[in-house]
Amino acid sequence: MLTPAEARVVSRVDELADEMIEWLRDLVRIPTINPPGENYKDCAQFIGDKLKEFGYDVSFIEATGRPECSPEHPRVNVIGHLNGARIRPALHFNGHIDVVPPGAGWTLDPFAAEFRDGRIYGRGVTDQKAGIAASLFAVEAIRRAGVRLAGSVEQSATVDEESGGLAGVAYLAEHGYVRPDLVDYVIITEPLDYDRICLGHRGVYWFEVLMHGRIAHGSMPFLGVSAIDRMARLIETVERTLKPRLAERRTRMPVEPEAARSATININSIFGGQDPDLPQTPCVADLCRAVFDRRFLLEEKLEDVRDEFAELVDQLKVDDAELQYELKDLLIVHPTMTAPDSILVRTMRGVVGETIGREPPLIASPGTYDQKHFARIAGIEQCIAYGPGILKMAHQPDEYCEIEHLTAACKAMAVGAMRLLGVNEHME
Ligand SMILES: [Zn+2]
Repeated sequence: MLTPAEARVVSRVDELADEMIEWLRDLVRIPTINPPGENYKDCAQFIGDKLKEFGYDVSFIEATGRPECSPEHPRVNVIGHLNGARIRPALHFNGHIDVVPPGAGWTLDPFAAEFRDGRIYGRGVTDQKAGIAASLFAVEAIRRAGVRLAGSVEQSATVDEESGGLAGVAYLAEHGYVRPDLVDYVIITEPLDYDRICLGHRGVYWFEVLMHGRIAHGSMPFLGVSAIDRMARLIETVERTLKPRLAERRTRMPVEPEAARSATININSIFGGQDPDLPQTPCVADLCRAVFDRRFLLEEKLEDVRDEFAELVDQLKVDDAELQYELKDLLIVHPTMTAPDSILVRTMRGVVGETIGREPPLIASPGTYDQKHFARIAGIEQCIAYGPGILKMAHQPDEYCEIEHLTAACKAMAVGAMRLLGVNEHME
């Protein structure tokens, strides 16, 4: 049951919906395309201006020193801080400003932010500028309802989530802008569906296999050893032996879709022999490279994941004693999950249930997002993803967000902030 103050805040959200929609449309019109990371500075400034208008102390943090942060494409993050009656507890909302390139198949202008049939269309509206708008206006609805939060609120809008977040949330965490002695709860406003709560994500292990062969004239391939043939045998072994084994390995994490509750492996890239765009000479390929994307579970250890793969390659040596290969780590993200019985999850579960009218399922994401940095670098234990929009719209042509989802998530965030931080009732 909502308290009278909560009910008042919820109706404030309805009153400021038009203002939120117009601001979100302007935000979508800033094409923050990543790669390469366009217009980040303008976008951070645009959000920072709104935070100032809403009473926050605002800082802009450029990820200087990161190789991707260049004069041409500066990586600018923005954080706003709004003090409550006390410093703690503190709730930090985070959203990423970068959007993936529009890609093909659009019937609308991806950066016009058209508003029709109760939806806003545009690249990045669901993933995840609607989330940024919802959290900013959620806290503003509290303020306009004359309710003073007891604890404090932070809002960060960060760069490069789509490319790993190293100049974004990771940078803020590494440089002490997000710390467990200052922040109790983090809500990342990613679109995992406005009626579900996401507890975390699986782990990622990207690695490269470099397979060696021995060059020879292509007309006498028996005089050499093809690195491509060797890679083909490895891929066959992966298909035959590893994939069935991974499919049987199930996690207790509530990953959605359910098929992703197993460990998985995908070949992201493969290249061997001569560049097909160049004129060819007859040669047996002496090198073949492949990049593998292995998603691992909370129940698996990275060392075991790596060893398991190396053993698989070593098995090929039974019939091919000369086989030589190298295995190189490219990217490691450990799995993370916030406890379902933590204050943050219990509170937001209750709030989403009450404002939307049905109990939200607790899920985990098959892919990663910035939670890894809040959990692993900043060391914040209570972190979830919750935001407007539906997951399957992310990165699609004609991406849109339903206004109904935007306001529903905004209400849940507002009431969630009130319950997590407490309110000073007599301020009304
Ligand atoms: Zn996203």
